[in-house]
Amino acid sequence: MQILAVEDEAAMADLLRSALSDEGHLVTVATNGQQALALARTGRFDLLVLDLMLPGIDGFEVARQLRRGHIQTPILVLTARDRSQDIVAALDAGADDYLTKPFSLDVFLARVRAVSRRGEIPQAVCLETAGLSLNTATRAVTRSGRPILLTPREYSLLELLMRHKGRVLSRSVIVESIWGFDTEIEENTLDAFIRLLRNKIEVAGSPRLIRTVRGIGYSLAEPEP
Ligand code: CA
Repeated sequence: MQILAVEDEAAMADLLRSALSDEGHLVTVATNGQQALALARTGRFDLLVLDLMLPGIDGFEVARQLRRGHIQTPILVLTARDRSQDIVAALDAGADDYLTKPFSLDVFLARVRAVSRRGEIPQAVCLETAGLSLNTATRAVTRSGRPILLTPREYSLLELLMRHKGRVLSRSVIVESIWGFDTEIEENTLDAFIRLLRNKIEVAGSPRLIRTVRGIGYSLAEPEP
């Protein structure tokens, strides 16, 4: 699953990232409510793990705003606040389940499995550009009907570009959506991933789909006639 972990404490964020990655999930970390809303609104996450006490917009407000915006991604709240009124407020704000800190990792991972089972089956979206198609439910990618095998990060990068077809995405927006806000990646890591992706989707002779926009970022668009 693609999981957005919203946690402002670095040690806890690292713990969540490693525990979930070990289970095979792709984890993006947001460290405040503003980032969490921006990322969650893309609708590409299967689960949000949400801390309640965050700088700026708190977890209650994040859940409330997402539900108001019809983002139905399942939310598992992690909180140091174990007063019953806080738990009630979190569930009323739109959270699906909660766990109070400190918690055992085994219990946390079991809750993640349970919440994701209960969550809605995400609506399949089929994105299509010039014979390249991507199905968000099955994560199948094909070009002219030929299957293309992508790593989880390559897939996320392609889905992001295809969801914003025709728009130029800045390097920082792409890096933040794919690697998370708290991640320092090498300057050329993104370019390396774009190169790998192009090699896989732009088969010999077929038109170029991912364009480099110098000084800004990248854009995926229908090839020019
Ligand atoms: Ca916190």
